[in-house]
Amino acid sequence: MKKLSLNAQILLGTGSGVALGLWFAMLGQESSVTQNSLYVAKLIGTLFIDLLRMVMIPLVFTSIVVGVANLRLHQQMNRVWQGTLVFFASTMALAVLLGLTAANLFQPGSGLQIAMFQDAMQSFQVTQMSLPDFFAHFMHSLFQNPMTALAQGNVLAVVIFALLLGIALVVGGERYRNILVLMQEFLELILMLVGWIMRLAPFGIMALLLQLVATQDTGLLSTLFKFVVVVLGITLLHGVVLLPLILYLITGMSPLKFWLGAREALITAFATSSSAATMPITLRCAEQHLHVKRDIAGFVIPLGTTMNMDGTALYEAVAALFIANLVGVELDLSQQMVVFVTAMLAALGAPGIPSAGMVTMVMVLQSVGLPAEAIAILLPIDRILDTVRTTVNVEGDLVGSLVVQKWASQDR
Ligand code: ASP
Repeated sequence: MKKLSLNAQILLGTGSGVALGLWFAMLGQESSVTQNSLYVAKLIGTLFIDLLRMVMIPLVFTSIVVGVANLRLHQQMNRVWQGTLVFFASTMALAVLLGLTAANLFQPGSGLQIAMFQDAMQSFQVTQMSLPDFFAHFMHSLFQNPMTALAQGNVLAVVIFALLLGIALVVGGERYRNILVLMQEFLELILMLVGWIMRLAPFGIMALLLQLVATQDTGLLSTLFKFVVVVLGITLLHGVVLLPLILYLITGMSPLKFWLGAREALITAFATSSSAATMPITLRCAEQHLHVKRDIAGFVIPLGTTMNMDGTALYEAVAALFIANLVGVELDLSQQMVVFVTAMLAALGAPGIPSAGMVTMVMVLQSVGLPAEAIAILLPIDRILDTVRTTVNVEGDLVGSLVVQKWASQDR
């Protein structure tokens, strides 16, 4: 019998994960079949995420060092980093704008009473996170002892150290050639490990989706139906229409070709809700399927994983306006501008892990005087909303790598 391709296996894993999840949801949480299956699914799902996280930090480190060193060697560095930052900032701004417009148009949360959620909010402790605190914390997390950063998995600090090391390798020149070669070979080895881990992807994705579908709180989902529909609708508009349009206008690549190349990463992002855990697969898709040069992908993808989060930025804006409606506060234009800026910062500062956006959202709410405890209302449904926003976060990184590659290759 002909062996199924990895892509076909992943699609099969996705479909059967959802179908089995629905079946277990129908059987009910009390049934022993459901409990045992959820136990096994948890083991497999966690194993898959652990394996990805195992290679993520070495991959971020080596791919940025090698990417920066090679880009500087080929005098492309300026164009690439400028293009990357412009792309990240403009697409995130677009996402927040879209979120604010939709929230103003559809007014999710109006008609609901905050009193309905009093219980949830009372038992919820908020850690204070004002804008200055957030900023100080963010600045502090940029520079760390590299060993600590590597050991603790602080992606941002690893990125910064790797950027500096990459630049130093080029400035140092021929003398440090051996270290560069070593890094290049190390990167290739890690990518080989990623290839092996991918064989487990169909099972990992199936297990994660099964758990997600079987354990959903559908009651709350229907109470917050309008909010959920607005968030999902706008996130999909950004991911299915706007990002592919930008990609097409700048590079001429058709959306279909893009999605076929990106699907392994997009499905993994959906199932894991973590752009950091997905990053090894994102990098693999960028290089192997979408043919982004290794140096460019190795720079844009790890950086984008920590900084570029369109889905999160959009969500923070819609959620802030939702909570304002819930407590009956009308945010004027200047307050919405504050939401605009803080939502972008909150997305920039959120690490690529599940529900990270919820934590940084405290800052957005506090910046316009909204009660941060209201986040307790959104937490129970966050696992499901996080799937789509993480997918769009990862999609933004992939589109970014293609766009930056195009910009970097122009009139040279
Ligand atoms: N889960 C998202 C990510 O990993 C971050 C968020 O919570 O918005 O990209």
